[in-house]
Amino acid sequence: MLPIITESTRNLCKSTLYLVLTFATIKLSGSLYRYIRSLKMSSSSSSSSSSTTDTETTRRNRILSTKLYFDIPSSKVPVIYSSAYNISFLGIEKLHPFDSSKWGRICQFLNLDGVLDKKCIVEPLEASKEDLLVVHSKTYLDSLKSSPNVAMIIEVPPVALFPNFLVQKNVLYPFRKQVGGTILAAKLAKERGWAINVGGGFHHCSADKGGGFCAYADITLCIHYAFVRLNISRVMIIDLDAHQGNGHEKDFANDRRVYTLDMYNPGIYPFDYEAKRYIDQEVKVVSGTTTDEYMKKLDEALEVAKHKFDPELVIYNAGTDILDGDPLGMLKVSPDGIAIRDEKVFNFARSRNIPLVMLTSGAVTPKLFFSFDLLYFLSVLCQLGFCHKNAKDTENREHVLLVSMWLYEVQCQSYSKFNNKPLKKKSDRYGKFQGKDITAIQVPFPVQRVLYFPWHSSVYSGEVYMN
Ligand SMILES: [Zn+2]
Repeated sequence: MLPIITESTRNLCKSTLYLVLTFATIKLSGSLYRYIRSLKMSSSSSSSSSSTTDTETTRRNRILSTKLYFDIPSSKVPVIYSSAYNISFLGIEKLHPFDSSKWGRICQFLNLDGVLDKKCIVEPLEASKEDLLVVHSKTYLDSLKSSPNVAMIIEVPPVALFPNFLVQKNVLYPFRKQVGGTILAAKLAKERGWAINVGGGFHHCSADKGGGFCAYADITLCIHYAFVRLNISRVMIIDLDAHQGNGHEKDFANDRRVYTLDMYNPGIYPFDYEAKRYIDQEVKVVSGTTTDEYMKKLDEALEVAKHKFDPELVIYNAGTDILDGDPLGMLKVSPDGIAIRDEKVFNFARSRNIPLVMLTSGAVTPKLFFSFDLLYFLSVLCQLGFCHKNAKDTENREHVLLVSMWLYEVQCQSYSKFNNKPLKKKSDRYGKFQGKDITAIQVPFPVQRVLYFPWHSSVYSGEVYMN
């Protein structure tokens, strides 16, 4: 018996040693690779930073050689859209509350109402790598070659599991088409007085960081192209999406050529206190703000802006997530209110002959949000059901049951909150969980964070629903 044990122990030690050595080698070569790469990068960045003019010249040349600015015949109206804007990815795009096919539906409605003929819409080109390098670094663009990074930016975790070529085709290509549209919109606005890109408005993305469903900084790019190609030197961004436009705020932090008027709900994503410092005119609209209160604040804000800055171009980020019932925006502006808001901004620019670019930016619907919640809930239940089946002892089974009850409670409460429906009776809610009392469940904080992130962190603004 003894020699066998010794032999197997020896074998075990050997394999452990091999494993440790292999692991250490991988780690060491990884660290070495990163060190060499950082050395290369720092040497190249120090030489490039020594000459800001070189960077400016490269940027200028890229802008001058772009294909995104092309001549548009007068038969076309200044509305930019392509069916390639819409994101469809085997249905998993529905796992994010953002409505990723709203752009197509907008044009469909306009078409059905006879307001807009399909043939008159301007189709933009896709922003190429060279176009994007005008603002983004190569390192940032390369980071999008990793599906997990894109999954983090668009907040749809299953995307991390797909090969990058599929993510490029189904997610990043539609985004790049929309970027092309935003850039072209400034040229069209200068020629026609106004232009609408039925897409774009990715105001959470800055030159070096994406987030909140925004992978490219289209507003920053559009403004830099306008500086060089349209002979414009003063731009006003009017950001009326419910969320703070932290991306363009960081990009134009100390650039006096750009004035930012940001009217947003401070109680929701992104809580970017650094970017907040760079807003020239900040107007806070707290959760629950009604149409009348909103319009009063907007009138006052536009009046102030009129006297503070004299722009040659207005970029209007017109997110409709201020709509009553939008689970992310948390404001209570009526559908008519949205139209009045847009009209006010158009009047602000048109009455002073300032070209205006409108971008559609964010919007979600409660119905869609519910399907997102339901899908999430079902997927978690499937996983838990699997764990439950495989749980070996009673204690484990009990634990799995408690976690699934806790998740169920989160779903019930969030559904009730965002759809303004009363919670069902407790007995109805927990009947299927063998009458266990949900309030007795204690889920450790780290577990709560894991379960929340990234599905719920932005949606619930960090609120914890457990009592
Ligand atoms: Zn928004």
